[in-house]
Amino acid sequence: AVLATLAEDTSAGATADGHQVALLANIGTAEDAERLTDAAVEGVGLFRTEVLFLGRDEAPSEEEQAATYTRALRALGDRKLVLRTLDAGADKPLPFVTQPGEENPALGVRGYRLVRRSRELLETQLRAAASAAREAGGELWVMAPMIATVDEAADFAALARAAGVTQVGVMVEVPSAALRARDVLHEVDFVSLGTNDLAQYAMATDRLRGELSDLLDPWQPAVLDLVAHTAEAGTDLGKPVGVCGESASDPLMALVLVGLGVSSLSMAPSAVPGVRMSLARHTLEQCRQIAGAARAARSAADARAACLALVDPEV
Ligand code: PEP
Ligand code: MG
Repeated sequence: AVLATLAEDTSAGATADGHQVALLANIGTAEDAERLTDAAVEGVGLFRTEVLFLGRDEAPSEEEQAATYTRALRALGDRKLVLRTLDAGADKPLPFVTQPGEENPALGVRGYRLVRRSRELLETQLRAAASAAREAGGELWVMAPMIATVDEAADFAALARAAGVTQVGVMVEVPSAALRARDVLHEVDFVSLGTNDLAQYAMATDRLRGELSDLLDPWQPAVLDLVAHTAEAGTDLGKPVGVCGESASDPLMALVLVGLGVSSLSMAPSAVPGVRMSLARHTLEQCRQIAGAARAARSAADARAACLALVDPEV
């Protein structure tokens, strides 16, 4: 009964004192967008477009991509859609762009770095995205994965704007980008923290290696420092900083993220009700105190425990 009531609550994400935090969905296909029919999700914070490129010998045409993006935008109406450009390589290989047999694929030519192999691939995708936004209306934001430098962010922003994209952002999922978040944010309209890869690269821990999951933990103080540094830059510059890694779906971590200044949380749709309830039971000031407790801890386990001691017992 509690779960049913939770799922029926379609109010916008907000803390107990009304500080708004957009609760968004991570999706991989236009069909996923069509399933987000209830208003419980305020939009899409991560559209992993690589799904459209999988299992093919060549990239989908500009027209086919535009049709898919239009369909996703139409399904969302006036709700926001954050489309991520192709993130192939490493754990997402694609025969026509990525190189088989790279020795360290997670550190190789993946994500935005594919522009070194084919600028055309990215330009085509950006044109398809911009034309979908013109066709469907709606609110399209576009971001690049695996940005490591300010120059890469500036280069991507120029390409995206030239293609007609109006809201341009980058993912912060490489520690170098988090450390230089202020300069990165000067180049773009928004950033989104990918805590899965950010933890992988900050902790030098393969995200696919289950036996190292204690290291690959977003509660690790070093990972929290990178998130905090990025959120602070966003707050100072008045630009949105979202989180779209798995950590956003943890109702306890969500309080920390909001306390650090993160403005939206994107997650598997099934996680939204739990995060909504958690936010609704705490004020922004409480979130800040919880975030402070997390940051004062010296280990991931201590950070979790310190936060648990401060939250409403039902979270
Ligand atoms: C991340 O790295 O946190 C992220 C959201 O992107 P992906 O999991 O698709 O690499
Ligand atoms: Mg990633």
